[in-house]
Amino acid sequence: MTASAGQNLKVDPDRLWDSLMEMAKIGPGVAGGNNRQTLTDADGEGRHLFQTWCEDAGCTMGVDQIGNMFARREGTDPEAPAVYVGSHLDTQPTGGKYDGVLGVLGGLELIRTLNDLNIRTKHPIVVTNWTNEEGTRFAPAMLASGVFAGVHTQDWAEDKTDAEGKRFGDELDRIGWRGEEDVGARKDDMHAFFELHIEQGPILEAEAKDIGVVTHGQGLSWTQVTVTGKESHTGSTPMPMRRNAGLAMARILEKVEEIALSHAPHAVGAAGHIDVSPNSRNVIPGKAVFTVDFRSPELAVIEDMEARLRREGQAIADAMGMEIEFEKVGGFDPVTFDETCVTAVRTAAERLGYSHMDIISGAGHDACWINRVCPTAMVMCPCVDGLSHNEAEEITKDWARAGADVLLHAVVETAEVVA
Ligand SMILES: [Zn+2]
Repeated sequence: MTASAGQNLKVDPDRLWDSLMEMAKIGPGVAGGNNRQTLTDADGEGRHLFQTWCEDAGCTMGVDQIGNMFARREGTDPEAPAVYVGSHLDTQPTGGKYDGVLGVLGGLELIRTLNDLNIRTKHPIVVTNWTNEEGTRFAPAMLASGVFAGVHTQDWAEDKTDAEGKRFGDELDRIGWRGEEDVGARKDDMHAFFELHIEQGPILEAEAKDIGVVTHGQGLSWTQVTVTGKESHTGSTPMPMRRNAGLAMARILEKVEEIALSHAPHAVGAAGHIDVSPNSRNVIPGKAVFTVDFRSPELAVIEDMEARLRREGQAIADAMGMEIEFEKVGGFDPVTFDETCVTAVRTAAERLGYSHMDIISGAGHDACWINRVCPTAMVMCPCVDGLSHNEAEEITKDWARAGADVLLHAVVETAEVVA
């Protein structure tokens, strides 16, 4: 027989907070945050602490060949696939104490809470730490969850090198966290996956909501544009005779803004990478190279924005007598999270009386890859001023509590409490 979780089922917010602060002592930053980059000694130390905590909570730890960690609390049905929950313990070089860590330790806290209350679930529960989510030391981001989900091969990931030329695979061996398990071997054991994460954006705080129910992950498209005009003297070239690639770029960037705004409110577009050459004060730019970044939760919108950039960019270049080239240099498709799991998150917030709203994740997360493997959803909680990837990243204990409570309820609902 299974039962529903009561609204009095809550995590211990002080214990969760203390664990967050304890983990933050490992790989401290220079301004109150963290520098616990992937596969460094500090990462190894953080992993050991997490493992110790999990084993103290009665879990068994499995590690795969790319360092992903899986702490398992058995269910009552030995045949039932497990409900997974987690995020990442690695940080940016000037990272915060909560990005990723909240999702891992929120998972641990829910297991501690179930232990305290002697609650059994039919499905096992597994708390995960995915290796190298941040992608700063070894690009790209979400590397090991991507290998797990079959997006990348393991060899390709292990050959990634950091700025000093050190290989991912060698550094994994060096810190001693290459496990035995084949990567992705446990895919069939995944009943669902839930990831709690700070928003890393300003919406929830501005709307005064405790919980973001994440329905979609934004897709992304990068198009590199090269405009070629003619370098000439800024003083002696008459205006009608100029072929100013910088000006063409400016006109195209106005279009980028217009195109994104035409798909309001969810689409966004900008060029964050811009190069003009020769980049000299008294030379009209002969060449401009820039990358247009378009994002939207809808694939059709992304495709429309890409097509319009090419069409309208071409028209601008033609009118100005310039050459233009477009090259798609990166991207990934939008993610639609599983309806049942999303509903479990929304129902949990409702039952617990936390204010909530549906939200789209603007950043990439491990959950975006794991969504390809099993039904997946995310819980978001606010962060102060939307600030993240910054040592000043901050959340309140109440926000952490609300996020972990909702995670707990969504997970036990899916793992089925045994009465
Ligand atoms: Zn993160």
